[in-house]
Amino acid sequence: MNAVELTRELVQIDTINPHSPERPCAERVGNLLVDAGYSVATHEFAPGRASVVARREGAGPPICFAGHLDTVPLGAAPWTRNPFGGEIDAGKLYGRGSSDMKSGIAAMVEAALRLAKTPLRKAGISLVLLAGEETGCEGATHLAKVPGALGRAGAMVVGEPTGNRPVIGHKGALWLRARTRGVTAHGSMPQMGVNAVIKAARAVLQLSSFQFDVAPDPLLGAPTLNVGTIKGGLNVNSVPDEAVIGIDVRTIPAQRHGQLRKQLESLLGPEVELAPVVDLEGVRTPEDDPFVRNVLEVTASVTGEREPPGSATYFTDASVLTPAYGGIPTVVLGPGEMALCHQTDEHCRVDRIEQSVEIYTRLARAWCGA
Ligand SMILES: [Zn+2]
Repeated sequence: MNAVELTRELVQIDTINPHSPERPCAERVGNLLVDAGYSVATHEFAPGRASVVARREGAGPPICFAGHLDTVPLGAAPWTRNPFGGEIDAGKLYGRGSSDMKSGIAAMVEAALRLAKTPLRKAGISLVLLAGEETGCEGATHLAKVPGALGRAGAMVVGEPTGNRPVIGHKGALWLRARTRGVTAHGSMPQMGVNAVIKAARAVLQLSSFQFDVAPDPLLGAPTLNVGTIKGGLNVNSVPDEAVIGIDVRTIPAQRHGQLRKQLESLLGPEVELAPVVDLEGVRTPEDDPFVRNVLEVTASVTGEREPPGSATYFTDASVLTPAYGGIPTVVLGPGEMALCHQTDEHCRVDRIEQSVEIYTRLARAWCGA
């Protein structure tokens, strides 16, 4: 078994979230790790929605390799390749999840298998392979609540697609549903009702002039706020008694979501009810962290490309895992291509997968003293 073959195999298992549960994929990687001597536990946040935690203990806190087993749907446009074929053509492996991120999972598993028989003199190794990332880190959130499920970790690599460029931060996402209420009445007698759409319109204008009171992050930039949806009213000749606004805030790690929600609540006042839909904080590891420096060194020695660490536009399971592990240094680094995530004819470069295996293996050897 090697990571390229395993990527093909995992792509052939449909794990489109939420229709096709992760369990068959979790069983396949779990069995490989059990056979290699890892202690493996499976946790389901709903029937079939299986995450895997595999460990080999050492003296110090383990290096953790994390990723997700689910994929997004295929989209409306037709594919020119079989999305569940795992076909390789001209050095590219095609299929849903090939970049995001079954190639990353496969590379982690091969690296773990390579180290299975080596004594670990300094620290252990763990793999956290999760269900339900694409719909808001459901598997990670569940594991973080199960006592002891995650174990401990001293540093983490998340294998999301970065084309093997180390990424040391991403923004958080705070999605809010804002609801206004009114009293319905006939459209010819608006004075008899209370108009929820007008209340919502006032709220949107207030949000459009909201100022964040935080300095931009040098890598991630400034936080943003977008009003993405507004819905209200059932028919034109009634006074609407309900309206709902969808707000998408992208935060930087210096912000606390609880505090931000309080600020928005006081801005909008008691007429607007705010409820979180997605609440994932940002992640940022300093460039001069010793683990980051080692990742940069190892990556450059494998790929021959020496780039400054980057940032990602997407969020990852690190939003949940990094704080659950006590704010450990975290790097996102995986073989997939960032630009191909969620796309039609998604693919991954085969040489990138082989590079990832080598990078992960060297990182684990250095961390674990293997
Ligand atoms: Zn992903």
